[in-house]
Amino acid sequence: MRRIAIAGAGQAGLQLALGLLAAGGYEVTVVSARTPGQLRGGPVLSTQAMFGPALRIERAAGLDLWAGAAPAVRSVDAVLVPEPGVRALEFTMTLTEPAQSVDQRLKMARWLELVAERGGRVEYRSLDRPGLRRVAEAHELTVVAVGRGGLSGIFAPDTARSPFDAPQRTLAALYAHGVGTPDPSAGPRARMHAVPGVGELYLQPALTLSGPCDILLWEAVPGSPFDCFADRPEPAEQLLRIRELLRTYLPWEADLWSAAEPTDAGAALYGALTPAVRRPVAHLDGATGGGADGVAVLGIGDVLVVNDPITGQGANSAARAADAYLAAITGRGGAAFTPEWMHATFEDFWHRHARHTVDFTTAMLTMPDHLQAVFGAAAAYEPVARRLADTYADPVDHAAWLASPELTAAYLAAVAAAPDGPVP
Ligand SMILES: Cc1cc2nc3c(=O)[nH]c(=O)nc-3n(C[C@H](O)[C@H](O)[C@H](O)COP(=O)(O)OP(=O)(O)OC[C@H]3O[C@@H](n4cnc5c(N)ncnc54)[C@H](O)[C@@H]3O)c2cc1C
Repeated sequence: MRRIAIAGAGQAGLQLALGLLAAGGYEVTVVSARTPGQLRGGPVLSTQAMFGPALRIERAAGLDLWAGAAPAVRSVDAVLVPEPGVRALEFTMTLTEPAQSVDQRLKMARWLELVAERGGRVEYRSLDRPGLRRVAEAHELTVVAVGRGGLSGIFAPDTARSPFDAPQRTLAALYAHGVGTPDPSAGPRARMHAVPGVGELYLQPALTLSGPCDILLWEAVPGSPFDCFADRPEPAEQLLRIRELLRTYLPWEADLWSAAEPTDAGAALYGALTPAVRRPVAHLDGATGGGADGVAVLGIGDVLVVNDPITGQGANSAARAADAYLAAITGRGGAAFTPEWMHATFEDFWHRHARHTVDFTTAMLTMPDHLQAVFGAAAAYEPVARRLADTYADPVDHAAWLASPELTAAYLAAVAAAPDGPVP
């Protein structure tokens, strides 16, 4: 049996741990800062929309445990709001496969229990650097999956791969019951509103601890009127401010929230994150860290690649990373998990997936002119809206049509010339 440790129990760490246990031949230890009870009783962690391709990975691994219970979101309505209360441009992005959002408190708590049920070892404690080094010394491979912040700082920033040195949005989310829906006959749909210079609002049906709910996420330009939750209000107070903002900016949404109630005491989230990419291998050579001859550990998920949630990619990317690392680990057979292998494992994932996710998310944060043209064209041509939906689901396609003004112009010209023709 090969001994593998995973520090951190989120999408990346738990999916990888459960994958290794299913593969067999691995003695898996997960170190988690929180117990299932603490997760379920704690605050919300994310809005965690998962698109079709990531859900397929979970399904294939037998981990999509909420498929029947979570609302299956088949489309996203997009609205441009150029000034308060004005809907300028609207279109619907139909997803090729449904998306779903399962409260990570529910999902990670259950996956953590599954690790133990399926023969893994779970240690409940928060690792510091010396603790991580002790874990790494006792295992053939240690994967660090502790999310952004904290211990992720042991991995050096890769500034060439991420242009940001500060948060581009502040984030405020609320989970609520009793939210109305614009068209009940249309089935579960997500909605996104963009208010240039102010921020974005995302609304999506989801599954939480107490059943189906709706999640609202403000992506606020720092200092804008949407950026009004920095004092981290309790859920009830956050709801009052939400109603006020909706009445002013998006009055067509305000009535839908008149009977809304926060789902629970932990229903509100506030934060701000700096998009980042880090180097995949850290060498732990004692409290001061550093040297390349220390014990090497490999990062995964938000530890290495932090995307602003504006495109809803972080958990999807973590799922892809766990899948890629699982294949790399099992493909390694009995050979040593060297630092070179660690580098190659991440670089392969970076080139095949992660860089496209980062590029797509950077584009959505910065909204260059050619991307604005895509949104305009999506309102006029359904194939453009569909391709945009598919790019959210799997940003690899970003490179083929959004990565430069020339690529986008060529595609939009082709669609305009033959709107009913074959769609690339
Ligand atoms: C507001 C918001 C909305 C989002 N919406 C979406 C979305 O719609 N779709 C999407 O795909 N992504 C979304 N994301 C991003 C997504 O939540 C993350 O990218 C994803 O959860 C990362 O998974 P991870 O496993 O890498 O890390 P995490 O989920 O952060 O898990 C890390 C785990 O490690 C544990 N841990 C931390 N430190 C230690 C330690 N020292 N010792 C032991 N354990 C430790 C933590 O308790 C946690 O359980 C959103 C994020 C935010 C903030």
